[in-house]
Amino acid sequence: MRVVPGRRPPEVQEYPPQVAIEVLLAGRVRGKRRTGPLRHLPGGWSRSTLPVNVLLVDHPGGLCLFDAGPGRIGSPDGLPWHPWLRLARFEPVEPDALAAALERRGASRDDIRWVVLSHLHVDHVGGLAGVPAADVVVSRMEWARAQGLRGRVRGYVPRLWPDGRNPVLVEPELPALGPFAGCHDVAGDGTLLVVPTPEHTPGHISLLVRLDGRQVLCGGDVASSLEELAAVRPDIADWCAREGVDYVGAHGPTNAAARP
Ligand SMILES: [Zn+2]
Repeated sequence: MRVVPGRRPPEVQEYPPQVAIEVLLAGRVRGKRRTGPLRHLPGGWSRSTLPVNVLLVDHPGGLCLFDAGPGRIGSPDGLPWHPWLRLARFEPVEPDALAAALERRGASRDDIRWVVLSHLHVDHVGGLAGVPAADVVVSRMEWARAQGLRGRVRGYVPRLWPDGRNPVLVEPELPALGPFAGCHDVAGDGTLLVVPTPEHTPGHISLLVRLDGRQVLCGGDVASSLEELAAVRPDIADWCAREGVDYVGAHGPTNAAARP
């Protein structure tokens, strides 16, 4: 991680208060009932599911999507054999919440300017083909770890990444911000900040949205809820509480970001 000393995290540029930040249900993930080694046996699917969310932000320079959801990957059929991929089943949902959110705006998928990916696991990249015009923003470390045979062994499925799409690889080149070791300014105005949140994967990133007097941390797979965040990253949870930052996880409640 490269941090440039002496530079400050970007100031937030103010825009008219017309910004919407929506948490949209993009699919569901079903795990196994059993834990431990027996969970690798066929069947034994849990009766309950967890949501797989994407987040849509109305930035004045274009729409920004955080994560692309599982798309129509189905599972586990059609995915390469991998122990990790046998433990979760990804299920599509109807109606398509992203299509409905775009329709409310009179927008199309071509109006999505950025897709910021928390990481490259299958339930976050399967919907990428549906946003053809967007810049796909990926952590440079995550991208590197997902390549080649080692990437396959780690459970990444590169064929879900559309051909001919060169991701914008980012690093936290700006100084530390709160509990985050650095940041990257996606839109160049301080309102969409990528921050490193390693653990679920070493290259995992989160998106801090600072628009319309509101701050929302889109945490991907850091934690599904604020309660879980307090358990796994109390430093981030404390900072969110102090700064009035809402938190939303990829597998948490879909209706609204929770406020500490
Ligand atoms: Zn993941």
